[in-house]
Formats: sequence, structure tokens, C-alpha cells
Amino acid sequence: MPYLADDKRYEKMIYNRTGNSGLLLPAISLGLWHNFGGADSFENGRAMLQKAFDLGITHFDLANNYGPPPGSAEEMFGKMMKTDFKPYRDEMIVSSKAGYRMWEGPYGDWASKKYMVASLDQSLQRMGLDYVDIYYSHRPDPHTPLEETMGALDQIVREGKALYVGISSYSAEETADASAILHRLGTPLLIHQPNYSMFNRWIENGLQEVLEKNGTGSIAFGPLAQGLLTNKYLGGIPADSRAARSGTFLQEEQVSASAVEKVQKLNEIAEKREQSLPQMALAWVLRGNVTSALIGASRVSQIEENVKALNNLEFSEDELKEIDTILQ
Ligand code: NDP
Repeated sequence: MPYLADDKRYEKMIYNRTGNSGLLLPAISLGLWHNFGGADSFENGRAMLQKAFDLGITHFDLANNYGPPPGSAEEMFGKMMKTDFKPYRDEMIVSSKAGYRMWEGPYGDWASKKYMVASLDQSLQRMGLDYVDIYYSHRPDPHTPLEETMGALDQIVREGKALYVGISSYSAEETADASAILHRLGTPLLIHQPNYSMFNRWIENGLQEVLEKNGTGSIAFGPLAQGLLTNKYLGGIPADSRAARSGTFLQEEQVSASAVEKVQKLNEIAEKREQSLPQMALAWVLRGNVTSALIGASRVSQIEENVKALNNLEFSEDELKEIDTILQ
């Protein structure tokens, strides 16, 4: 049966302006880092993508190396574009990135112009797309001049292979420099993609100010700290969780007694707010000037639960203070 999107899909989602740009992003976006690779169930991935779109999630975040194996998430997404989403391409914001090791030799890693340009051509081919909406430098490269990387992003936009550009995990200072170069070139820096959650607040230390000053938006990756900010680890490590799976970046040691104690206390605040903990964690990320919270999911029910965060985005001063005390 061909997929037909829910005709009520735009009724509940909130769309936020990305910095000073014309682009609106959904308050909740979906990333395909895990659970969409060649080793994962195609049908589960497809069901998650369909549910997300039905709930008004218009933004899907990928990177050249997502899988495993690297490249397979883009391939899987390409198949879904073909089977389900082709009629909806103009309702979707698709991003990809290059910056981590993708192929052998000196040209398949970091942020040289050679790598950035070649990698996007490969990504477009895997996804069966003519262009991506946002293309990112996935991480700063200490050995390539920033002018070269930003020049590559500018060229890619001029060639029509991306509509907008972003950077990920660049420091406040690197972001200010990148933004100035892109401004000079005439391709503004649309967005920064940092790690940001209750358990990782580094952007509050300078980066947010730079983004605001330059009219750049932000999309917070890992807003649930890879699942730690849910109640799933309160009674140990479930066999079907990310922390239990090998080859992931959530190690069993990170599910420490002190983290679980904090999660327990945060969970009590969430209950008082009549939200689940992941819902509160997403509302918290969105409380400031963050354009979108970029979640991951392993099953449809998580997407359904997480989008309901939008039912209560307000925090009282007391709640915020209580949360700060727990996180200290
Ligand atoms: P999250 O912090 O949202 O963690 C997602 C994981 O948490 C899920 O896969 C699931 O794991 C668990 N989870 C989600 N919702 C619930 C829920 N309601 N109840 C219980 N458990 C839940 O984000 P990710 O770490 O997945 O990152 C999100 C996206 O950010 C990536 O897909 C990618 O697009 C981007 N990213 C970018 C990076 C960069 O360098 N720019 C780096 C990392 C990510 P489980 O398997 O345990 O069910």
C-alpha cells in the first residue's frame, strides 16, 4: 500500500524560525544516526519515519557515516524516499554532514574541500536526491584552514547541491570565525548542531551568545543524553537499550549510580509536571533559544511520546532552580 501522510500532520507541531533565516524547523526533529542502518530492520525504520512525518516532524538529520555500515542510513533513507516520501520532498528538510572517517586514504576524513565536495556527491547518490536542504561540516578540523572548509560549503550552495549550510560541534570562537567568513562569502551560517541536554550544558558557556549575535539557529543533538534522560535505566540496563548494545557510544559505565540518582530526582519533577522525563528533558532543551531538539528513536512509541513534550513547554522559576540544583 502506498504511504499516504496524515492530513492532520501540521496541526500540533510547533515550527520555529532558524536564526534570522526564512527557514522554519519543527521543534522536534528526527535523526537517523542509530536504528536506520544496514543491520537494522527496514520496516521498523520505515514505520518510524512515517510516524514522525505524520506527527509534523519535517526535518530528518543524516550524515555520510551513519549506519552501520557507514553510508547505510543514507541508503535506507533513499529507499524510503523512493517508496514513501517522493511526493512530499518539498515538505521535508533533509540534512547530511561530512567530517568523520568515511573512506580510506587522506581524502575521506575531516574537512578539506576535496572531502566535503566528494562526500556530498556520494551522499546525494545514496539518498537519491538532487540536493540536501542543509549540509554540515560535522566537526572542526584543526589542520584545514577554516576559509577552505567554509569556501567549500559556499561553493556547494552555489552549485545547488545544498540550500543552507551548518556546522557541528564547533566551539564558540570557531563558530564566530566561521560565521564571519561565510558572511563575507554571501552564504550565511544557518545553523549550529551542538550536543546539548540537561547532562551536557557546554553551549551555555559562550556559544549561545555567538549564535544569537550572528542570527544563527541551533539544533540540539542528543537531547535525551542517548536515552539516559528517560526512566528506562532506573531499574538497571534493559537488554533492548542502547547502553546494552555493542558498538554504540553509550557505555554501560555512563549509566552510573550518580547519573541514575539524578535521573530519579528529575523524574519526580517531571511527574509533578504531568510529563514523562523525556518530555520534560525536551521541553527543557527548547526553553531557551534552541530552534529544534534533535531526537533519536528505536521504536515508533518513543516518537509518539517525545512529540507530546510540546504539550507543556513552560517552566516556573522554581522548577528551573530545582533542576539546576539536581544537575550541579
Ligand atoms: P537522544 O538523546 O534523543 O537519544 C535517543 C535514544 O534514546 C533512542 O535511540 C532511544 O534509545 C532512547 N529514547 C528516545 N526516546 C525515548 C523514550 N521516550 N523513552 C525511552 N527511551 C527513549 O539522541 P541521539 O543520541 O540518538 O541523537 C539524535 C540525533 O542527533 C542523531 O540521530 C543524529 O542525527 C544527531 N547526532 C549528531 C551528532 C553530531 O556530531 N552532530 C552526534 C550524535 C547525534 P534506545 O535504543 O535505548 O531505545
